[in-house]
Amino acid sequence: MKNNLRKRILVTGGAGFLGSHLCERLINDGHEVLCADNFYTGRKHNLSALFSNPLFELLRHDVTFPLYVEVDEIYNLACPASPVHYQFDPVQTTKTSVHGAINMLGLAKRIKAKIFQASTSEVYGDPEVHPQTESYWGRVNPVGIRSCYDEGKRCAETLFFDYFRQHDMRIKVARIFNTYGPRMHPNDGRVVSNFVVQALKGDPITLFGDGSQTRSFCYVDDLIEGFVRIMDSPDEITGPINLGNPSEFTIRELAEKVIDITGSRSPMIYKPLPSDDPLQRKPDISFAQKALNWTPNIQLDEGLKRTICYFEELLGQNAT
Ligand code: NAD
Ligand code: UDP
Ligand code: UDP
Repeated sequence: MKNNLRKRILVTGGAGFLGSHLCERLINDGHEVLCADNFYTGRKHNLSALFSNPLFELLRHDVTFPLYVEVDEIYNLACPASPVHYQFDPVQTTKTSVHGAINMLGLAKRIKAKIFQASTSEVYGDPEVHPQTESYWGRVNPVGIRSCYDEGKRCAETLFFDYFRQHDMRIKVARIFNTYGPRMHPNDGRVVSNFVVQALKGDPITLFGDGSQTRSFCYVDDLIEGFVRIMDSPDEITGPINLGNPSEFTIRELAEKVIDITGSRSPMIYKPLPSDDPLQRKPDISFAQKALNWTPNIQLDEGLKRTICYFEELLGQNAT
């Protein structure tokens, strides 16, 4: 790439599942990447392939504290995403979303950088509108066990749009629906990695509730393509914009697929449904299709095969 096209890009939460894929993609596109992460759920190991690359730099930093660096673009991904982890220290989760957004927006304002926010389908809560469109305001419990994450992310969206209106900034807000793939932590706690690890170990597959609740699963490579497209889109496209795969499955169907592909003999067992667990979720992606010419290509069977290969290798290494 010609140097005048090379950008300096900050990725917060870059040592996590999505962040590490994003750092890799941006480096492969020829950009300089500064990854800032406090390693709460992320790991240096996720970035090991990038350490020898002079375009890559890793900084241990907590986004709830100010950060003074000089970059052209910021992707703000820092925040634990799995219910198990974001509920472990809920006050810190809210601080990460809210103080983190304020600091990254303050930084972007000072250096006139374009800034992307990793928002979430959780802003729709347990939705009455199905599939969810960006114009739907959501149904979120403000005082439940998921609120630290849901309301933190909603407040971060508010901050992004207030900085946009008040300070004329270039913002990009993506509402990400359930995404899975290689480099999820084996103890991440989210459903795809839980089921795959359980199936490969021969442990019982833990279905919460009766398994009839639905989710729509996006493979990580498709999502990262969406991130880059929204960042590169014209300034008037601020979002919020849904990014996800609209193919919807019940959690029981997901378990059956994982058992089928792995050939596992794990039994399915049922555990209580956690409170406020959304019953259905499916993105309407017509806005992303039109504005970004983006549509996910990798369907669940193929994505699961790739994810299962990753975990087979990882668990094999750990066994030796
Ligand atoms: P992850 O837990 O793997 O990654 C989050 C990263 O943020 C980790 O590396 C963690 O160490 C870091 N982090 C947490 N708190 C921090 C802080 N205070 N300062 C600096 N770093 C901090 O999760 P992920 O799936 O990669 O999610 C990345 C982002 O995308 C999150 O903001 C999440 O809310 C959002 N998101 C993800 C999904 C999904 O399905 N994967 C869906 C919706 C939204
Ligand atoms: N900030 C930062 N890096 C910068 C500039 C600002 O981390 O380069 C943080 C700083 O902590 C500040 C916050 O961003 O409190 C919000 O900045 P803003 O300029 O919007 O408001 P301020 O609080 O400075 O009036
Ligand atoms: N779930 C499950 N078993 C697990 C983990 C999760 O049945 O071991 C369910 C969970 O109750 C939810 C869905 O799978 O209905 C997706 O959960 P996840 O934590 O992956 O993400 P969420 O979309 O709820 O944030």
